[in-house]
Amino acid sequence: MNLLGAVAAALIAGQGQAVQLEYPEEAGLASIHIVWNKQQIPFAQLQDRWFTVIGVDLGTAAGDYPAAVTFTYADGHTRTLTETVTVESRDFPTTRLDVAPKYVDLSEADGARAAREADEIAAIYETLTPTAYWTEPFQVPIPGVAGGRNFGHRRVFNDQPRAPHSGADLTASTGTEIQASNRGRIVLAKNLFFSGNAVFIDHGLGVYSAYLHLSEIRVAPGDMVEQGQVIGLAGATGRVTGPHLHWGVRITDARVDPFSLPGLGGPVVGVE
Ligand SMILES: [Zn+2]
Repeated sequence: MNLLGAVAAALIAGQGQAVQLEYPEEAGLASIHIVWNKQQIPFAQLQDRWFTVIGVDLGTAAGDYPAAVTFTYADGHTRTLTETVTVESRDFPTTRLDVAPKYVDLSEADGARAAREADEIAAIYETLTPTAYWTEPFQVPIPGVAGGRNFGHRRVFNDQPRAPHSGADLTASTGTEIQASNRGRIVLAKNLFFSGNAVFIDHGLGVYSAYLHLSEIRVAPGDMVEQGQVIGLAGATGRVTGPHLHWGVRITDARVDPFSLPGLGGPVVGVE
């Protein structure tokens, strides 16, 4: 146990925010991981630092959450420090939307399909790729777009309450080119009942981004995509009121605001 093990950094994050943690490179350091959302999340090394990203789920209660960070050295010894993530509550407004009735009162066949697809998506989010595919800050998938600040809104569809909005809706007319917000591997590219034509990217370290309601998909599962690569075109497929891009992010299954990703405004902690 190194004396540094007693050092703890306070970190404040809102509900539904991504948090980047960074530590400097040290001689003999072989790996780092943090325990968060009941998972061991590895750090990736980039030049003179180690980094990872954790997600505070939208539904996390306000309060202090200790998170153990373990440093493992080439000679086999380890040291652990505890970061405290202080989660602050946020106010999320309620949005009322009118959509085609078939998306609110589901037929038996549509209900079965939606349940099957929910299981498929859950399996994707439970998979943690232990390396980072990205090295650059994340980007908004439509450069310079306005809007997209409706993450977390409570939602009522055709007068029936539904799950809160787990992404950001960006203004986009049908046919607008949609860019990968960062480098990663395509893990889903097909039509889904609620999401319409959808593309999901695994960025590694448990970070996934999703691009929904597309008019056209231009990638296939297994493809590696570069940041800024066009992965499809905006549209109005699935449960929508009109054309737009729904951009969603999950981090070890936590629902986070895409605009809080590293490089887009998320807090950074942990430089000793
Ligand atoms: Zn949306």
